[in-house]
Amino acid sequence: MMPRRVSILGATGSIGQNTIDLIRRDAGAYDVVALTGAGNIARLAADAIELRAEVAVTARPDLLEDLRAALKGSAVEVAAGPAALVEAASRPADWIMSAIVGAAGLAPGFAALDQGTTLALANKESLVCAGKILLDVARAKGTTILPVDSEHSAVFQALVGEDIGTVERIIITASGGAFRDWPIDNLAHATLDQASCHPNWDMGQRITIDSASMFNKAMEVIETREFFGIDPIQIEVLVHPQSMIHAMVGFRDGGLMAHVGPPDMRHAIGYALHHPNRAHLPVERLDFAAIGLLEFTAPDDARWPALRLAREVMAAGGMMGAVFNAAKEAALDGFIAGQINFVQMAQVVEDTIEQLDRGSGHIHATMTLDNVHKVDHLARKAAKASIEKRAG
Ligand code: NDP
Repeated sequence: MMPRRVSILGATGSIGQNTIDLIRRDAGAYDVVALTGAGNIARLAADAIELRAEVAVTARPDLLEDLRAALKGSAVEVAAGPAALVEAASRPADWIMSAIVGAAGLAPGFAALDQGTTLALANKESLVCAGKILLDVARAKGTTILPVDSEHSAVFQALVGEDIGTVERIIITASGGAFRDWPIDNLAHATLDQASCHPNWDMGQRITIDSASMFNKAMEVIETREFFGIDPIQIEVLVHPQSMIHAMVGFRDGGLMAHVGPPDMRHAIGYALHHPNRAHLPVERLDFAAIGLLEFTAPDDARWPALRLAREVMAAGGMMGAVFNAAKEAALDGFIAGQINFVQMAQVVEDTIEQLDRGSGHIHATMTLDNVHKVDHLARKAAKASIEKRAG
């Protein structure tokens, strides 16, 4: 069999490294086209050499010469900057992993779909900001988008052979993150280190903090709506501290299909990599007798206002998803930089939503990549103003 041509956007990150781990185990089966990263030049260069990538791209033009130096003597091409990411994503490939963090993943993901490449989508921000655009281009080009978020992969798997019209509800689970059991009054004093520790999953820092604030789950609720096209009222969130059941799909006959697996992203990545087949994957096999107990509770809106905000965003429609994502990214930057506290992140997002909802018709303009960028820019500006007001 011919090797499959694969690219990995965000190769140096947590999802990217897990994807490389799977590819490395069967290296002869793949030709690696593009690997991309941003600041971690040493990792990017080492992987590009080992996997004989055609091209390595850093998102940061200021690091182009460092990347060139690290790849000197190899046959790997080098490039840098947002346009180079899009060019790399457009190179003919059979499968591409979209695992850049943040809205920066949107344009390269779009380019890959437009080129006809199957897109394994970890970058949930793309769907939240511009789900309609991605789904439209995938439909127009006959290209497949495969979810990589563990909850959406779980739903996708539970739906194999089913008619989406018979789905009554989709339940996605949340571990509750670092502060699930903290007294609410203490949340304003949570430190960056405390917010950056996840009880079950080993992930990048940003998504780990978003898990503690539930902004990650809020994004996933919107992602569920975009990806599976069901009504927001049909989407439920359950707190499940063990992170073993990732999602459940309830059908109109009362039956529920639950997807159970260890908290290891290599399952969802591997499912997308081998789809529609199932391959042997190096993940733990669960021993239910040893686990003993699986717990579930309803999420508390007072502890996690992000979930209420996600419902408001879906009700507003238009490009409010792009506002939500941009405000959340800016608020997270503000928290990481020590400008605002943990609780103020949700307040900044809420301020921004209110301001853009009130302010103009921007969010209800036609959804195009340009307009999404415009709205993203406006929302970041509004969020920064809200952060400064609180910081000052
Ligand atoms: P990481 O922070 O670990 O990695 C992010 C990747 O994106 C790195 O390769 C990083 O490069 C690169 N990057 C950072 N900024 C930019 C930019 N401006 N332009 C282009 N590339 C950039 O993130 P994760 O792997 O945790 O998450 C990646 C995506 O997958 C996110 O959308 C996240 O929500 C989603 N996801 C992650 C899960 C997980 O388990 N980690 C689970 C489900 C979804 P460098 O490191 O070189 O700076």
